[in-house]
Amino acid sequence: MDSRRTKLPDSRVTPRFAGLVTFGRYPRLGDVDPADGPVDWAIYGVPYDTGVTYRPGTRFGPRAVRDASQYLKAYSIEHDVDLLEAFCMADAGDAPVEPYSPRGTLDAVADFAADLADPGHTRLMAIGGDHSVAYANLRATHHRLGLPTEGLALLHFDSHLDTVDEVWGERHGHASPFIRAIEDGLVDPKAMLSIGIKGPLNSRRDLDYARDQGVTIVTADQWRTDGQAHMDRYRALVGDRPVYVTFDIDCVDPAFAPGTGTPSVGGFTSAEALSAVRSAAGLRIAGGDVVEVLPALDVAQNTALLAAHIAFEIIALDAVQRGVGR
Ligand code: MN
Ligand code: MN
Repeated sequence: MDSRRTKLPDSRVTPRFAGLVTFGRYPRLGDVDPADGPVDWAIYGVPYDTGVTYRPGTRFGPRAVRDASQYLKAYSIEHDVDLLEAFCMADAGDAPVEPYSPRGTLDAVADFAADLADPGHTRLMAIGGDHSVAYANLRATHHRLGLPTEGLALLHFDSHLDTVDEVWGERHGHASPFIRAIEDGLVDPKAMLSIGIKGPLNSRRDLDYARDQGVTIVTADQWRTDGQAHMDRYRALVGDRPVYVTFDIDCVDPAFAPGTGTPSVGGFTSAEALSAVRSAAGLRIAGGDVVEVLPALDVAQNTALLAAHIAFEIIALDAVQRGVGR
């Protein structure tokens, strides 16, 4: 009896390097048999990079992450959960984008994501794309949860705060998703933890908005010395509130994740990044994204492969909290 809720091709019949590519080799959303129960996680791509401020190319991120994810396996040793048994997961394809229109794209992505699968049940995992797309997936997630006034808690991994008001006259670039999300009430800044922030920044004023709003900032160095204590405090702060996890791959050192547009030296190793996400076990996960993979600058698929595994680790947090897949 097959206990997997996500049905994959048998890799001894159809090898991992054969067949059409979906995230994790999961079925396409439209191919999930309703008899198998509701879809727990819908993974979708956002092939968009008009929001970048430096090196472009993350529009090719979703394809690269899907390709690298063919070698994603199912069982987490650290959490003792099997994601294929825990959840029905599906690849919902790519959101529509309007490459010449940041606002148009974010509206289109949010509308697409708002209706995916079962809005009352299915969690959303967006694969970027530049970090501006987090705003759209946050908006869809907030809408689907039906939180009229309360903002989501936000667990944010990044080298940058992404709370810049505007760049070159644009208010929805990849430096701005969280100032917009806070302004729109999608995120509660007092329940926002930003991990991996590092300098040099443009100026000390770059920190002002986040600090004034009550965001907790943990630099990469602070995380290395005292990470677990910061996470324990955050767990106590948010309790069972829904937490959205956003992961900008540039929090990882360029030596491990070279394929990204705004690299920042002194970042996490791949192992530190995986451990940091795993340390959030116990939080109630509302959705997430993994963004800023730029395949043209990647080496040996390192960045895309890590991104696929970060998405896996975020979804695994949900399995841990719900006590499924054990
Ligand atoms: Mn960043
Ligand atoms: Mn970012």
